Amino acid sequence: MIAGGCFCGLVRYRVSQPLGPGRSCHCSRCRKAFSGAGSAYAEVARGSFTWTAGEDNLGRYETTPGWGLCFCRTCGSTLCGTAGGEVHGVTLGSVDGDPGVEIGMHLFVGSKAPWDHIGGRAPQYAGFPPSMQAGGMSSEIPPERPGRGRDDQ
Ligand SMILES: [Zn+2]
Ligand SMILES: [Zn+2]
Repeated sequence: MIAGGCFCGLVRYRVSQPLGPGRSCHCSRCRKAFSGAGSAYAEVARGSFTWTAGEDNLGRYETTPGWGLCFCRTCGSTLCGTAGGEVHGVTLGSVDGDPGVEIGMHLFVGSKAPWDHIGGRAPQYAGFPPSMQAGGMSSEIPPERPGRGRDDQ
């Protein structure tokens, strides 16, 4: 069982199954959305996510039609990405303790911040990795990447 929540503690959640692979997107939009070098994000298995406190204190921001982010309205922590109104994944920084996954790939390093020096040995891709380009399926667009198309900043 994985548990997590926001900085102020009003919003809490749990995930009943192991998280999917972790990833970090370094595009300019994710830097804004996550207030850092990029996203740190892992998908959840369908039906495994439950809000346990403070769901009524969530703010929701639709980043691109059908995709969005949820954050605590009190402290501002970004907690999850949504797809079609359902929780699609969680921000690794909001997980209590060890989420059981590491960052397994870096996306959009071609537009990372000049102050961002990526460590570790996980593969780095200038844009989307090949696994997310197949067929242009909308389900393969990372919801933590707020917006589609070229990242030109
Ligand atoms: Zn909070
Ligand atoms: Zn991004």
